[in-house]
Amino acid sequence: LTERLQNAMSKLRRKGKISETDVREAMREIRLALLEADVNFGVVKDFVKTVRERAIGSEVLESLTPAQQIVKIVDEELTKVMGEEATALNKSPHIPTIIMMVGLQGAGKTTTAGKLAYRLKENDQARPLFIAADVYRPAAIEQLQVVAQQVGAPVFELGTDVDPREIVRQGLAQAVENKNDYVIIDTAGRLQIDEKLMQELADIKELAQPSEILLTVDAMTGQNAVNVAESFNQQLDITGVVLTKLDGDTRGGAALSIRAVTGKPIKFTGQGEKLTDLDVFHPDRMADRILGMGDMLTLIEKAQTDYDEEKANKLAEKMQENTFDFNDFIDQLDQVQKMGGIQDILKMMPGMNNVPGLDQIQMGPKETGHMKAVVSSMTPAERTDPDLLNPSRRRRIAAGAGRPIQEVNRMIKQFKESRKMMSKMSNGNFDGMDQMFGQ
Ligand code: GDP
Ligand code: MG
Repeated sequence: LTERLQNAMSKLRRKGKISETDVREAMREIRLALLEADVNFGVVKDFVKTVRERAIGSEVLESLTPAQQIVKIVDEELTKVMGEEATALNKSPHIPTIIMMVGLQGAGKTTTAGKLAYRLKENDQARPLFIAADVYRPAAIEQLQVVAQQVGAPVFELGTDVDPREIVRQGLAQAVENKNDYVIIDTAGRLQIDEKLMQELADIKELAQPSEILLTVDAMTGQNAVNVAESFNQQLDITGVVLTKLDGDTRGGAALSIRAVTGKPIKFTGQGEKLTDLDVFHPDRMADRILGMGDMLTLIEKAQTDYDEEKANKLAEKMQENTFDFNDFIDQLDQVQKMGGIQDILKMMPGMNNVPGLDQIQMGPKETGHMKAVVSSMTPAERTDPDLLNPSRRRRIAAGAGRPIQEVNRMIKQFKESRKMMSKMSNGNFDGMDQMFGQ
């Protein structure tokens, strides 16, 4: 999902000016990317429609940085689809707060029960009690006991011969007696949804009146995770979802569909098998992760606040007229410095953070200072017409700036190259950052 979306986005970003056709093209790719990642069809349809309308309808296309604006819209809409804000666990006004874990077999109920208890103990000094209500697999109770021991919390169990409803009833009584502030009920799962299981869960819900019915779904199961969520929600009116196994090679589509299809929030994600591998679900961070944007958005915001629009427009004009000179070169260096230096900028660009040799690019304040010194040793005529710079002039400039002649030569060469590149893009609009770095 991430790769395809990134491709669609970088195609957009390569263009200076964007037309409605470009937007449509990009939307088609986003649509495919989402469908391929098992995002529910209806969700994809609505999503693409909203993004397209926002992209075409607003001032986006006219703006200085249309591609970035569209990326930003996609990111915002992804966030919205997943519920906007992180959602906390429901808490009962009186103890115990009862949490019921439901889900298919192997989805991660028992593991997540342990992680939750661990979290509650760590953060709220809670005293949780587990109730072992999965009686269909002998190993299930043992597994819960192992997890509970790691957490340091007791398990209420009556073996595998007692009806789970009765186990829950007695377990709750024990929690009240022991003044446990949380009860986590670990229920049974099946390989697929069946009526008997659902009835059992409905009965347990009825008698326990839990504040939280957390459906655990395996993110690796893609579209099926969404079907599971839908049917559990219909039958039990769940209160939230835990999306497990996000550490695996998942396509991430489930995260997008579940909220939209069930209307219920994803509250946590499982990121591994350890007790500590449970994260609060943040829709905005997930959106960034799906887009694989690194800190792209931070960068865009930085660029929007720091980049001097007027200067950028002037620069664009100069590039078109091919009158870009050493004075403009210095202006550009200043812009880059203002945005935190070239390395910071490159690092924030998706796909750029792994480029080997990136850390070799030396363009800190010191290097900029040297370049400025060289330019200020030039005469006004030399600054506007670098072709004047013959070997004897170069020697003079090097001496004047106190820099080695090789450095002056290298800089002039760099300058000429960037000018050549600029004139190649001559009639394109100036699209902020992208063209500045010749992407
Ligand atoms: P249950 O049948 O729903 O109770 O599922 P379990 O809690 O027994 O988990 C099934 C398997 O998935 C176990 O091997 C867990 O260690 C593993 N598992 C659960 N959550 C995660 C997760 O977030 N990441 C990974 N990698 N494995 C998980
Ligand atoms: Mg289990």
